[in-house]
Amino acid sequence: MASVTQLGYLGLSVGNVDEWERFATQVLGLQSNGRDADGSLFLRMDEYHHRFTVHPTAKDDIAYLGWEVSTEQAMQTLATQLTTAGVAVQPGTAAEAEARRVAGLIKCTDPSGIATEIFYGPLVTYERPFQSPRPISGFKTAGQGLGHFVIFVNDFEQSLNFYREALGMRISDFVNFSPAPGVTLRVAFFHCNPRHHSIAFIQMPQAPKRLHHFMLQANSLDDVGSTYYLCQAQHVPIVMNLGKHTNDHMVSFYLKTPSGFAAEYGWGAREVDDATWQVQVHSAGSMWGHQGQL
Ligand code: FE
Repeated sequence: MASVTQLGYLGLSVGNVDEWERFATQVLGLQSNGRDADGSLFLRMDEYHHRFTVHPTAKDDIAYLGWEVSTEQAMQTLATQLTTAGVAVQPGTAAEAEARRVAGLIKCTDPSGIATEIFYGPLVTYERPFQSPRPISGFKTAGQGLGHFVIFVNDFEQSLNFYREALGMRISDFVNFSPAPGVTLRVAFFHCNPRHHSIAFIQMPQAPKRLHHFMLQANSLDDVGSTYYLCQAQHVPIVMNLGKHTNDHMVSFYLKTPSGFAAEYGWGAREVDDATWQVQVHSAGSMWGHQGQL
């Protein structure tokens, strides 16, 4: 089965791009790469021209996500796989590819209506290395993509089929937890490279936002610690305290973005080797910590 290779980029629709630029650069430590003609802000975290595009379209939610493949041929193979799975696929225009700074893309929607793009050929700028505005060591993206994100979906089984059968991703594990007596939620985690998960989802059709959080993985525990205390000093709301997850073993905390959804700032996740990985089930999200309510 053909598979996407990494989460390449995320598009966010936000109410206040200026506030996002300050937050992303001064708190998260991302690097601004300027604005497009329509006012959209590009944010870097590695050699890619951008990993986030922040659009002034005021939904304060995910706008689209971009899954990378290695070549144009791989993109066409995936288009065929999507079509076979009953997903309508549209070719991206040259103008759309230019806007995303990629060589080419195709477009579809996931079963919850989230705009999904599959692209190849990102613009990379080795001649202008990523430089964080904050004194941090940087982000782990090589071979693993941007990070991960968690969304609320309308239908668990339909989403499972889409991400597994159409995009070719593999299940890492499930976390079943009970936020209230008599209520059980099931979270499914998927990988497409050694990163434990690039996407996870929870069935919650009534959720006011699709995006629950995105995760950035720092290169050092010091980066997580210094960012944690920077949030406290600058009164950036922390929605879950430091903790360690059961499934990916990430040490992280969650802070509130200007759009209301959270950003997870983590370090030290274990990696998946498809040759030996076995799907697991967890009944708790964290080994320790992560106190708070997302
Ligand atoms: Fe996470």
